[in-house]
Amino acid sequence: MELQLTKEEEAFRDKVRSWLHEQLSGPFRDLRGRGASGDQESHVEERIAWGKAMGAAGWNCIGWPKEFGGRGCSIKEEAIFNEEYVRANGPGRVGHIGETLLGPTLIHFGSPEQQERFLPPIVSGDEIWCQGYSEPEAGSDLANVQTKATLIGDEWIIEGQKIWTSGALHADWCFVLCRTDSTAPKHKGLSYILVPMKQDTIEIRSIKQMSGAAEFAEVFFDGAKARRDHVVGGVNNGWKVAMGTLAFERGASTLGQQYLFQQEFEQVVEAAKQTGVAKDPVFRQRLAAAWIGLKIMRVNALRMLEHQGTELSREALISKLYWSNWHRDLGKLAMDVMGPRAELIAGPPYELTRMQKWYLFSRADTIYAGSNQIQRNIIGERGLGLPKEPR
Ligand SMILES: Cc1cc2nc3c(=O)[nH]c(=O)nc-3n(C[C@H](O)[C@H](O)[C@H](O)COP(=O)(O)OP(=O)(O)OC[C@H]3O[C@@H](n4cnc5c(N)ncnc54)[C@H](O)[C@@H]3O)c2cc1C
Repeated sequence: MELQLTKEEEAFRDKVRSWLHEQLSGPFRDLRGRGASGDQESHVEERIAWGKAMGAAGWNCIGWPKEFGGRGCSIKEEAIFNEEYVRANGPGRVGHIGETLLGPTLIHFGSPEQQERFLPPIVSGDEIWCQGYSEPEAGSDLANVQTKATLIGDEWIIEGQKIWTSGALHADWCFVLCRTDSTAPKHKGLSYILVPMKQDTIEIRSIKQMSGAAEFAEVFFDGAKARRDHVVGGVNNGWKVAMGTLAFERGASTLGQQYLFQQEFEQVVEAAKQTGVAKDPVFRQRLAAAWIGLKIMRVNALRMLEHQGTELSREALISKLYWSNWHRDLGKLAMDVMGPRAELIAGPPYELTRMQKWYLFSRADTIYAGSNQIQRNIIGERGLGLPKEPR
């Protein structure tokens, strides 16, 4: 089962491929493969410049309608683009939260003024966004958000704390889920507010992880200001908008992601040959099982593409649970293949290998964007129609 391309789609693929090749073997050569999972902090300024170059050439936000600055690409063309991007070893994209989460949310829920102000700099790569949802007491239970916004004159004054905010250090803006009516029921008193990050009433403390990386942060709002008209979708309507943002995580990136997984899998096979465990029957079975998982993910992703336009299909419901567990298990297999060498770093400057980095980061895959348990609840309730979890 493969992606069937029309002549036009093949021409589109060739155009993508040659632009990426030209750039990534020319001016942006050093960025190849940088900024992937576990490596998000490397070359950030250069990757922002790369985002601007992509914008200038029309390769950011390609799935957005043309009237909002996109290319109006189909979901299949987006999948082609993502697959080529990974094949070309394109760097991790610093602007992806603006492109994949905030932009579509504004297109759907934003006012014309908000669209006009915020969409063009996402398309050009000039403004970087982060997502301010999670708090110490509000992760899976997102409706428990306590960060408060109070309207004083023409400004919202924000007090509270967010946590695990990816890319907060480099972001220009954050979409912050805030409580704007503490007397209303949990889901009803929230608003979705666009907050500029460069103010001295916002403190960002990076969180260092076991990998040594610190790409996410705690963000403290101590009287931070946002404009009155920068609430998306209406005051106290933030829950609906926040859920809309999560639904915009579309399936188009899955084929690109799988190409990346394929590359990682090949690295593991290569390592197994070098260490000799490729001859061990138990390792051979584990490698075969990983390969089968890859094929299942590909078939599932292609089925998702066929069902584009429908509300979350069954394939989409199981996708996150499947890929995140598969990827975590591949990381474990990679470390077992390496044996004691998995724990060694070659020498100064003591940078972890690519494999060590993605292994460590893969432990987060089953947590962010909905933990395993939450995904199972969703499958049970929405996919299988089981009774709702007691609250
Ligand atoms: C790498 C990474 C990047 C992230 N980036 C961002 C970001 O940019 N912005 C942002 O806002 N957040 C971000 N997050 C936070 C992420 O959304 C939360 O970690 C996630 O929602 C889980 O919330 P929590 O960590 O508070 O865990 P909790 O919700 O406290 O869950 C703890 C455990 O309890 C289980 N559990 C909770 N509720 C239930 C239930 N009802 N039924 C069964 N089991 C349950 C969970 O599955 C989990 O195992 C990021 C997280 C990671 C790991």
